[in-house]
Amino acid sequence: MTIKKLQKNLVQWYLENKRPLPWRESRDPYFIWISEVMLQQTTVQAVIPFFLRFKQRFPTIGSLAQAPLADVLEMWAGLGYYSRARNLHKAAQEIVRLKAFPHRYQDLLPLPGFGDYTSRAVASIAFGEPVGVVDGNVIRVLSRLYGQGFQFWKQDDKKMLQQRSDELCQNADAATVNQALMELGATICTPQSPACTLCPWSAFCKARQQGLTTTLPLKKPKKNLRYIAIEMHLHFKKNQIALVENHNLPFLKKTLMPPLKITQLQKKPKQYQFAHSITHYKIFVTTKKIATRPTHKNLQWYPVHQITKINPTSLLLKALKAESLLPQS
Ligand code: SF4
Repeated sequence: MTIKKLQKNLVQWYLENKRPLPWRESRDPYFIWISEVMLQQTTVQAVIPFFLRFKQRFPTIGSLAQAPLADVLEMWAGLGYYSRARNLHKAAQEIVRLKAFPHRYQDLLPLPGFGDYTSRAVASIAFGEPVGVVDGNVIRVLSRLYGQGFQFWKQDDKKMLQQRSDELCQNADAATVNQALMELGATICTPQSPACTLCPWSAFCKARQQGLTTTLPLKKPKKNLRYIAIEMHLHFKKNQIALVENHNLPFLKKTLMPPLKITQLQKKPKQYQFAHSITHYKIFVTTKKIATRPTHKNLQWYPVHQITKINPTSLLLKALKAESLLPQS
């Protein structure tokens, strides 16, 4: 197989089969960036309504930069991983200060929340820089195409995958190649049952030839599940709740939360009000409504009815619903 042939077949297939998605309607780097951030950890179908609402509320990067953070978090509510929304807001302010959206991958990389993947995706899709992307779809497709068990969680193998992906973007329309590669992974070369007969690379694919489509890509070894008990102290006065920035939980960093008592556990406890999962943490929550004045430092009071703006994380919303302080929905 030659790179040229791979590019030709892939691009032709993409142009004939790509899904009409709202962020594909323009090459505006702002919308491409927003969609790429939303699409991390979330499916295309789930992202579409969020993207359209976000675009309507913040139609320009300037409008996002100027908006209060609480409004950005509110528009993000339901997508999870709220640090992404905070970083979007910070990066928008930085780009406005720069007076132009950086074009190159290397110049995007220092912006808040722009990791390797996002910088490469925006630089290539919006500005045509010939840099490849490596996400879950790309890992799967390239592992199968080359019939290679890349241990993508290790630096050396990740580098090899990056080189393979970069190669595909050389002397080609990188915006189309990258989108095509991700589209192929999302629609044809799917995890469970790849539709090889419809694949533009079926004649070249080593995994198909060697019957390895079910064994590739390799699976990343799972992190052990960690158990945490949280006692959430809900201090109230006149429909206001006391919140403080979280620095103690290993997740939801800098998010406003009620004061918490945190205990690391070896196993599931016998008593708790509800359980919640964030990445590899299993969290067992009990809540306590407390009438006495809180003694914690740096507490601030916020109206309960604004909680979905201030902290829309499902962990807190579940706790407030459990205490009937928010309506069940
Ligand atoms: S031939 Fe099958 S396994 Fe190989 S890249 Fe295409 S869809 Fe994936």
